[in-house]
Amino acid sequence: MSDREGPPKIGVKRSDASQPLVLPGIHRYQFFSNLKDRGWTLNLDRVALFGIVSALLATVIKPLLRGNPATIYCYECRACYATQDRCPVGISLQAELVVAGRVLDYNRFIRNGGLKCIRCGNCQSYCVQYLPLPKMFEVMQQETKQAIVAGTVPQESLAQGLEQGLIGKEFIDDVVKAVS
Ligand code: SF4
Ligand code: SF4
Repeated sequence: MSDREGPPKIGVKRSDASQPLVLPGIHRYQFFSNLKDRGWTLNLDRVALFGIVSALLATVIKPLLRGNPATIYCYECRACYATQDRCPVGISLQAELVVAGRVLDYNRFIRNGGLKCIRCGNCQSYCVQYLPLPKMFEVMQQETKQAIVAGTVPQESLAQGLEQGLIGKEFIDDVVKAVS
């Protein structure tokens, strides 16, 4: 079949030779239309692509819907660790808080001191993208607080946070109530 004979019928696979020519000897493969020689099954490529796209959408859409879109832009370069003793409450791994906010990981957020952040903004100047870190941490603090009240944060994580002095005064009542 040549290009002049019109488009192929729906449901009928093209042979390689009938794919449209881009350059002499180079055929333009139709998207998802002729994958029989490129995967173990006819649909393997389609399934793999669906998985990749779903993972990407989950990474991007989740923070967007939760009102914490800036977390998407973090490179995870860890330049913000240079804050060091300029963080008044001794948080040393700010990027961990950003990533925890992106994926909604309460344990990771608490473990790295997210609930004791006072949102002073000192770390923001060390971010290579000048991301609004205090705002991002505040959003995640409120989400964590709601999860604590709803009882969806594991008690051992809260108890450990209390023991290690990782809970700020704004959240201490909720945490104590949740573990008692
Ligand atoms: S905003 Fe939070 S993490 Fe950043 S320096 Fe201030 S207290 Fe530390
Ligand atoms: S410096 Fe900014 S971009 Fe890099 S890890 Fe920290 S928050 Fe993310």
